[in-house]
Amino acid sequence: SYRKGGYHAVRIGDLFNGGRYIAQRKLGWGQFSTVWLAYDTQSSSYVALKIQKSAAQFAQAALHEIEVLSAIADGDPSNSKCVVRLIDHFKHAGPNGQHLCMVLEFLGDSLLKLIKYSRYKGLELNKVREICKCILTGLDYLHRELGIIHTDLKPENILLFSTIDPSKDPIRSGQTPILEKPEGSLNGGSTMNIIEKKLKRRAKRAVANISSRRASMGGIEFQKPERCLDGIDMRCKVVDFGNACWASKQFAEEIQTRQYRAPEVVLRAGYSFSVDMWSFGCTAFELATGDMLFAPKSGQGFNEDEDHLALMMELLGKMPRKIAIGGARSKDYFDRHGDLKRIRRLKFWSLDRLLVDKYKFSETDARELAEFLVPLLDFAPEKRPTAEQCLQHPWLNLRNAAQDERENKSNVEKVDVGMSKLQIKKSVLVIN
Ligand code: ADP
Ligand code: MG
Repeated sequence: SYRKGGYHAVRIGDLFNGGRYIAQRKLGWGQFSTVWLAYDTQSSSYVALKIQKSAAQFAQAALHEIEVLSAIADGDPSNSKCVVRLIDHFKHAGPNGQHLCMVLEFLGDSLLKLIKYSRYKGLELNKVREICKCILTGLDYLHRELGIIHTDLKPENILLFSTIDPSKDPIRSGQTPILEKPEGSLNGGSTMNIIEKKLKRRAKRAVANISSRRASMGGIEFQKPERCLDGIDMRCKVVDFGNACWASKQFAEEIQTRQYRAPEVVLRAGYSFSVDMWSFGCTAFELATGDMLFAPKSGQGFNEDEDHLALMMELLGKMPRKIAIGGARSKDYFDRHGDLKRIRRLKFWSLDRLLVDKYKFSETDARELAEFLVPLLDFAPEKRPTAEQCLQHPWLNLRNAAQDERENKSNVEKVDVGMSKLQIKKSVLVIN
């Protein structure tokens, strides 16, 4: 993919946008882009630099993403709506062509990583609640205030404010930014021109300021790695607006990542904001159990769509006939009675039973979580609660006292290497 029209190859120390940003290390990549941790010499802080592939269709997609992200930033001047913030955007010319670049606030690991760290066992319900509140705040803002549908909500596209491994977090670990290309890199050193050298000098001065500030903050070390999720502030933000659209200006029929796809999208019956609520329900289940709610596969005599519809009905009951036969694809999958043509025998297993039998939830936890999730998974899109309504759900404010207790204890146990004894005493007082 590193050829004409494709990704832009980045080396550590590379400069962007007239020297304002300096590449530090790769953070991730997607179908269309690579994302780099970069140092912003203007604000003396770290940012995420998303560099799009250069071919026309990718540039087009990036322009659209910039338009959406700009609307998001304009509508939320205080940056409090749990959606990633666009800081800057520009074009970067490279050997593979012109690349549109987006500068985003630097965020941490995705919820997918968080689920991996739970060894796919799921997070404590108190943490799930905190995360759900953030996601819903973001969705409510997008839906109600901006009229935007995300269309690709899933754990991978929700990022924590911090990384789970503190050594990977340049701020918590007190790393100094890289300003020069490391020795031996291809185009570093002697070929650097005067302007570049000047910019670097300016950047160095900026860095001197923050590293002295940061040295006094100290880092957090975890006594027990398996407890690394304890005490992480569970705040997060919704990212990846590459596929987002205005409800009034839809362009794609097939939206969403398979496992998080709503039934009306599978059936091609039109869609609106409520597709995000379906994906949110799937995501909340995954956070609580570590497993995907629906993981359809094709089999002998049926395709992935049909398996998906069958899985939905096994969990949520039979799809009302009117909905089953109401989409452009309905005839391919359902007969006129609203029964699946090629998967005849369904094994019904309700959500609260599934939570108890398979995931060993207590009866109470299972019932309460199912009461929160089932309305989000209504086959009738217009019956699903909106994000605003969902934010009022009592489940979000329930607390599991035992989990609270354990959490507080582990906060005290944690050694903050940068703290003086006095400060440790103070924090114990606050907790008690
Ligand atoms: P794509 O549209 O190509 O899928 P994404 O926006 O999903 O690109 O970004 C790809 C990956 O880059 C993400 O999965 C994540 O690991 C990382 N990433 C994206 N945005 C940020 C950010 N603001 N801060 C930190 N990492 C990010
Ligand atoms: Mg992505």
